[in-house]
Amino acid sequence: MRFLVTGGAGFIGSAVCRRLAADPQNFVLNVDKLTYAGNLASLASIEENGNYAFSQTDICDGEAILALLAEHDIDIVMHLAAESHVDRSIDGPDAFIQTNIIGTFQMLTAARRYYEGLTGDKKAGFRFHHISTDEVFGDLPFDSGIFTEETPYAPSSPYSASKASSDHLVFAWHETYGLPVVLSNCSNNYGPFHFPEKLIPLVILNALDEKELPVYGKGENVRDWLFVDDHARALELIATKGVVGQRYNVGGNSERQNIEVVRTICSLLDKKKPRSSGASYGELIRMVSDRPGHDRRYAIDAGKIKAELGWQPSLSFEEGIQATIDWYLDNQWWWGPIRDREGYERLGSLKKD
Ligand code: NAD
Repeated sequence: MRFLVTGGAGFIGSAVCRRLAADPQNFVLNVDKLTYAGNLASLASIEENGNYAFSQTDICDGEAILALLAEHDIDIVMHLAAESHVDRSIDGPDAFIQTNIIGTFQMLTAARRYYEGLTGDKKAGFRFHHISTDEVFGDLPFDSGIFTEETPYAPSSPYSASKASSDHLVFAWHETYGLPVVLSNCSNNYGPFHFPEKLIPLVILNALDEKELPVYGKGENVRDWLFVDDHARALELIATKGVVGQRYNVGGNSERQNIEVVRTICSLLDKKKPRSSGASYGELIRMVSDRPGHDRRYAIDAGKIKAELGWQPSLSFEEGIQATIDWYLDNQWWWGPIRDREGYERLGSLKKD
């Protein structure tokens, strides 16, 4: 199969590229604008592979995307490129509207023109896989409810609203123009190569730097955590075996309060890399004013992808978080240059007092 992966220099996109390029029968074209979140170092293990190529292209440039689809004879588009950080979307929603909505519109327009020019088996096999988030479903109470594929959309943040908009465009292009799409909504990912503005890598690296560990509100917000390589495996299955016009929820069945996640990281680091003072990393935890519109809880029913595509997570949260911490301890070559950059750290930046 010949894949075009957008956002392949990001956290999840790079895991998808590494996975796909490991099969010599695949060809993988990574299309990424290289925003602050894009990092070609995440592709170092495959950059010399003959079956991998990179194009620095903005997804808002529809003509360039169409040319890449044709030049590389693409079978499957996996569209991950997005502005992805909720805090940034509150501070400055413009880029989110531009990339997540207009960019997806341009991707769909290019894919449609390309698809309409295909014939025979090539046309029958073409897929446009749109990668989305569980945040489009909005806020769940702490004690009940779970997102299924039928849950109505109710996004709370500029980020989730922009992703919800793009999801609607994708299905509209299927219903109206017959573009063969599949869509997936996934819970919070974590793992290696995660940009250190997001909770888990931020806490690991702040702890190692003896900096405060900011936690929003009372730390009670619940997220369902999935190890990134398990998500990448789900995405390959959905893109290649998913039923056209269908959506699939992907989740780790690992609901944790944010404060539990932070405490788990601290106690694992206490064992793996004790502080020179002998104190626990837990003493660095600081509660900061809550984020506006902070959804209380997300929970995913992943029964459909399990039943229909035979997928399930391979790692528990306990296994995945250990692997993640070990990776950050061993890979300063990757995160060191990012930490040296000015202004990478955003969590807690929107304090009201
Ligand atoms: P990321 O921020 O790590 O990576 C995004 C990538 O997109 C970067 O490499 C960036 O350079 C690229 N990009 C941004 N704007 C672009 C543009 N205009 N043109 C081309 N490339 C552009 O994001 P991520 O966490 O890897 O998320 C990837 C996708 O998965 C997103 O669509 C996100 O909504 C979705 N998702 C993420 C999570 C999560 O927990 N991180 C969960 C569910 C779904």
